[in-house]
Amino acid sequence: MAEATDRASAPLHVDVIVVGAGFAGLYMLHRLRQLGLHAICFEAGAGVGGTWYWNRYPGARCDVESMQYSYSFSEELQQEWQWSERYPSQAEILRYIDHVADRFDLRRDIQLETRVTAAIYDEAGRMWKVSTDHGTEAHAPICIMATGALSAANTPKFPGLDSFEGRWFHTGNWPHEPIDFSGERVAVIGTGSSGIQAIPRVAEQATHLTVFQRTPNYSVPAWNKPLDPEQQAEWKKSYNEHRERARNTRSGILYEYSQRGAFDVSPEERVAEFERRWARGGANFTHAFNDIFVNRAANDEACNFVRDRIRSIVRDPKVAEMLLPHDHAIGTKRICVDTGYFETFNRDNVTLVDVRTTPIEAITPVGIRTSAAEYELDSIIFATGYDALTGALQRIDIRGAGGERLRDKWAQGPRTFLGVMTAGFPNLFLITGPGSPSILTNVIVSIEHHVGWVAECIAHMRAEGFTRMDAAPDAEDAWAEEVQAVASRTLFTQSNSWYMGANIAGKPRVFLPYVGGFQNYTRICQQVAEDGYRGFIFAS
Ligand code: NAP
Repeated sequence: MAEATDRASAPLHVDVIVVGAGFAGLYMLHRLRQLGLHAICFEAGAGVGGTWYWNRYPGARCDVESMQYSYSFSEELQQEWQWSERYPSQAEILRYIDHVADRFDLRRDIQLETRVTAAIYDEAGRMWKVSTDHGTEAHAPICIMATGALSAANTPKFPGLDSFEGRWFHTGNWPHEPIDFSGERVAVIGTGSSGIQAIPRVAEQATHLTVFQRTPNYSVPAWNKPLDPEQQAEWKKSYNEHRERARNTRSGILYEYSQRGAFDVSPEERVAEFERRWARGGANFTHAFNDIFVNRAANDEACNFVRDRIRSIVRDPKVAEMLLPHDHAIGTKRICVDTGYFETFNRDNVTLVDVRTTPIEAITPVGIRTSAAEYELDSIIFATGYDALTGALQRIDIRGAGGERLRDKWAQGPRTFLGVMTAGFPNLFLITGPGSPSILTNVIVSIEHHVGWVAECIAHMRAEGFTRMDAAPDAEDAWAEEVQAVASRTLFTQSNSWYMGANIAGKPRVFLPYVGGFQNYTRICQQVAEDGYRGFIFAS
C-alpha cells in the first residue's frame, strides 16, 4: 500500500485506522479487509505482537495453556501451528504472531515504529484525525484502539533513579539483545506475575539477587512440560468444539469449573481437591469450588492451603512468613503461576526485603536505599506492572465530539458501553476496553469476540448507510452501574489490585473490567446487536 508506507506530510486517507498491532490489532485488520475496507494500523514497536513483543524478560510465559492461547478464526491456522510446551513461552508466542502476520499478509498495512500521539474527532468532517510521533497524519471516519489492557508500563517515581550508575529495566519494555546478569548484584522490585516469573531465572544467573516485595502474592505451580504431539493431535481433532466450550465459560478458558461449594464437602475432601489441583498446576486451582470468588470463608480455605504450601517449600521460617499473603483473598489480585518461585528463596544468593515495613526511600548512584539499609546493585529490574486498561488510551490525546478530552471524561473513572465505545467519541471503538471482561479471561477469546462484534457493527453501519455511531449516555450509565454492581457481589472489590486501579497513585478506585462472566457478556452483546444495536445512536 503505497500511501501507508510513504511518510509524506500529506495525511493518509483510509476507511479505518487501527492503533496497535498485537493480537487485537492484527485480527481487526484481517476482519476489516474481509469487509473490503482500506485500513492502516499504527504500531509503536519495531515488530508486531504487542505484549509479546515488549515482554522479553527472563521467564516470560503465558499462563493460559498453549492449545487455548491462540486464534480460532482460521481452521487452517489452528491445525498447522505446532506448540511445543504446555504453556507457551514469550518467544514461541511471538513466532506464532509473526507467522499470523505473514500468513494473512497483514504487514503491508502496518506502519511499525510509529506511536500514535493524538486522535481528534473532526465533527464537521465526521473524521478521526490521527497524529503520530513521526509526524504522519491519517484521517479516517472510524478509529479502533487496539492498544492493549496491560501495555502502559508503570515505573514508580522513586527519587534518584536518574542518578543510578548501573543498568535498569522494566519487564514490560525489555531490551532485544540478550541481557546477562552473570557476576552482577541484581534487584527485582515487584512480585506480581512478571516478577514471580523473572525472579527464579535471574537468581540462576546473578551473583546475588535482592527481591523487594511490597505485597506477598499467591502463586501456584505451572508444572510446565513439553507438549505431547499425540495429545496435541488429539485435541486438534475437535478443536472447534473445545473452542466453543471455552466460549461458554466465564473466563473463556477450559478449566475444571467445580459445581460444588467449599463447604459442600468434608474438610478432608476439600484439602484433597486443593492437592489434586496443585499437582495438576495452573490457575485451575481457584476453580476448585464455585464459591471461592464470592465467599470469604471458602476463599480462606484456599488461602490457607497455599500458605501451608509456602511454609513447606521455604526452609527459613522467617522468610516463609514474609512470603505469606494475608492482605487479600486469593484470585482477587491476579493469581500467579510460577516455576520454582518459592523454592528460589532457599538459594544462598537470594535475599527478600519487605518494603512495606522498610520502604524504598531512594535510588542512589550505587543501588537502592530503604528506610533500614542501602543495597549496592549493578542492575535493577522493575516488575512494577501497568497502568491497566485506561493507561494506554489516556497516554494518547484523544478528543471526541465538541473537543472533549477522554482524560477529562474519565477523570473519575472510565465509562463505556459494553467496553467497546464511550459516549461522545463517535466511531471510536475500543478492543479490550474498560467495562469488557477482557483481562479476566483468555484475552485472545475476548479479542476475537470484541473484534468480531465491532466488524459486524461496522458492516451494519455500511449496510444501513450510517456514517456516525455513538454510545447513548443512558446506556453507558447503566453499563457502568452494572460493571460495579456485579463486581460488588464478589470479593474482587476488597483488594488493592490493578483491577481496581489501586496500583497507580491518584487513579480513581473503580473496578475496571466486567466480572459478570465472558459467556454472559457475549450474550448481552449479541442481544444488543439483535435489538438493532440498542443503546447506540446512529446517524447518516
Ligand atoms: P503487577 O501484577 O501489577 O505487579 C506489580 C508488582 O510491583 C506488585 O508486586 C506491586 O506491589 C509492585 N509494586 C508496584 N509499585 C511498587 C512500588 N512503588 N514499590 C514497591 N513495589 C511496587 O504487574 P505484573 O507482574 O507486570 O503483572 C501485571 C499483569 O500482567 C498480571 O496480573 C497479568 O494479568 C499479566 N501478566 C501475565 C503473565 C502470565 O500470563 N504469566 C505474566 C506477566 C504479566 P503491590 O502488589 O503492593 O501493588
